[in-house]
Parts: sequence; C-alpha cells; structure tokens
Amino acid sequence: MDLNKIEIKQKINSEIEKIKHQIIDLEELTKPIAPDCAIGRVSRMDAINNKAINENALQKAQNKLKGMEFALQNVDQDDFGKCAKCQGEIPLGRILLVPHSRFCVRCAS
Ligand SMILES: [Zn+2]
Repeated sequence: MDLNKIEIKQKINSEIEKIKHQIIDLEELTKPIAPDCAIGRVSRMDAINNKAINENALQKAQNKLKGMEFALQNVDQDDFGKCAKCQGEIPLGRILLVPHSRFCVRCAS
C-alpha cells in the first residue's frame, strides 16, 4: 500500500472520529422533550424548535459518517481518488466533502 493511501485513511478515520462525537452530542440533544409541566410552555416551544434543528444536523452527520465509511472501504481500490471520466486526480478535500462522487469537480459540473 502506498504512503498516500495510508495518509488518506488516517485523514478519513480522524473525520469519522469527529463525526461520531458530533452524533453522540446531537443524540443527547434530540432526546424526547420533557412534558409541559416540567419546563413551561415557552421553553417547551424553544425546545421543540431546537430539537428540529438538531435532528436535522444529526441526519446530516449520520449521512456524512456513511459517506466517510464508504470512502474508507474504497481507498484500496485502484480507481480510488480518480475521476471516472477524465482519470484526473480528485483532491482529498473533495473526496471528504462528497465521498460518493466518482467525478472531479470539472466533470461533475
Ligand atoms: Zn474529471
């Protein structure tokens, strides 16, 4: 395995670690809200709004985690990081941002 791929794997693994921490935090924030009597009506509305925002963030984080795990599984393949159209190299930043894309920015647009 070439050094570059080891580096990429480390990078992806550290991203995965970060996202997992995020998910744990967000899961904490999206737990069921206490009944009315416990926190009052206005703060309950706030809690519901915040919960929706956090649920959205949680969803995104979970998708990102799946993408990272997908990328990690594919690092060892010969065509990893290569554009399926022009065979050009896809920068790691883009791979981490859109792990499912098989094209470079130019060919994707
Ligand atoms: Zn391309």
